[in-house]
Amino acid sequence: MKIGFISLGCSKNQVDSERVMGLLKANGHTLTKSLDEASAIFVNTCGFINPAKEESINTILDMAEYKQKNLKKLIVIGCLSQRYKEDLIKELPEVDRFIGVSEYNKLDEILSEVLETEIIGSYGKMERLISKKAHTAYLKIAEGCSNRCTYCAIPLIRGPLNSYPKAELLLEAQHLILRGVKELVLIAQDTTRYMEDQGSNQLGQLLKELNALPGLKWIRILYMYPNAVSKALLMDMKACDKVIPYFDIPIQHADNDLLKAMARKGTVEDIRQVIHEIREVFPQAILRTTLIVGFPGEIQKQFQALLDFIQEIKFDRLGAFAYSLEEDTPAYFMKDSCSETEKQERLLQVMDLQAKISEEKIKAMIGSTLDVLIDSKDRGTNTYRGRSIHYAPDQIDGEVVFTSDQALKIGTFAKVNISRNDEYDLYGEHQG
Ligand code: SF4
Repeated sequence: MKIGFISLGCSKNQVDSERVMGLLKANGHTLTKSLDEASAIFVNTCGFINPAKEESINTILDMAEYKQKNLKKLIVIGCLSQRYKEDLIKELPEVDRFIGVSEYNKLDEILSEVLETEIIGSYGKMERLISKKAHTAYLKIAEGCSNRCTYCAIPLIRGPLNSYPKAELLLEAQHLILRGVKELVLIAQDTTRYMEDQGSNQLGQLLKELNALPGLKWIRILYMYPNAVSKALLMDMKACDKVIPYFDIPIQHADNDLLKAMARKGTVEDIRQVIHEIREVFPQAILRTTLIVGFPGEIQKQFQALLDFIQEIKFDRLGAFAYSLEEDTPAYFMKDSCSETEKQERLLQVMDLQAKISEEKIKAMIGSTLDVLIDSKDRGTNTYRGRSIHYAPDQIDGEVVFTSDQALKIGTFAKVNISRNDEYDLYGEHQG
């Protein structure tokens, strides 16, 4: 059967999609990019915040149009299915089956029934089909989250923290490396809690064992909870030569009352202290964060404190969201203090400030030589795109664009002399 697959949402969802695609491929089905030809289409949805939910619904409706062509089965999986299954069944009769994340353990049975052909094998136990670049892959080290931030629906959808066994992760990493992966990106809702659900934190130990795998070049960790970045973890990272000093630490805000209302652990002073310790151990640390503006109760003074903090810390990259009301979360019942327009204005102010800081920081890299992992080549020219340690392989960070008079292979490393920049990207020439 020819199958089309649309994966929406975050990197964690992408890993789930790669697992489902791996299961389908192992059962003899073909994944196609040409949706006109597909007999079945899967949409892996995001149900995190309102814009993501809207995107999911619009994509499902777009995909339903293919029923005018060859499409026989439209299957919707992921967070949206988990969260709103009963409503969706009523509202979207075009969909043949909604499958929530809690049903993935019996995916073989469900798919056998809906696709009317036997599917053998367990979800997560078959080889993943890496959907993006062959040389970089996400390694999802845990599912769920036990932090219970008051604005977040993830624990309701994905359940509490459930870490994957270390032996399984090492095996998965070895398979990925054998298939050409050079960069492993560790993900979870909160990577810094790895194995705390089993009694004790083992992120440092996992890093050491991954670091020992031959063939791997870079290990990058995303989604680190600031106050869980302990000195011990920093030392473990330092002891691993493949672990990149890239710190993706979502701080969410820089006002103590708001952090408390969000049920975030630690104070602004704790965040400041963690950043100080990171920079002490890794003077070249790359810092990325995520923020929420317009959280219920946020007044101008608190927003100004956030701007001041951004100016003080000078994160290398920053993503911000306007607070979006999420039903069934504690923040849903808090009194909103900002209009939608104010939220959007604050969002713009944050992003404008960060654009200046990011540009200033990457300008300082002009004249340096960077090791760049080549992601792609522009057709017909000798222009390549890739990433140095400063850029994660998601849509948030920038890239290094460079020319070379040699034919270089995608997935290899090149030394690039940096000669200019724009807001988020660096430009240069291959050292040869
Ligand atoms: S750490 Fe907080 S924001 Fe992140 S997934 Fe867990 S509950 Fe949600």
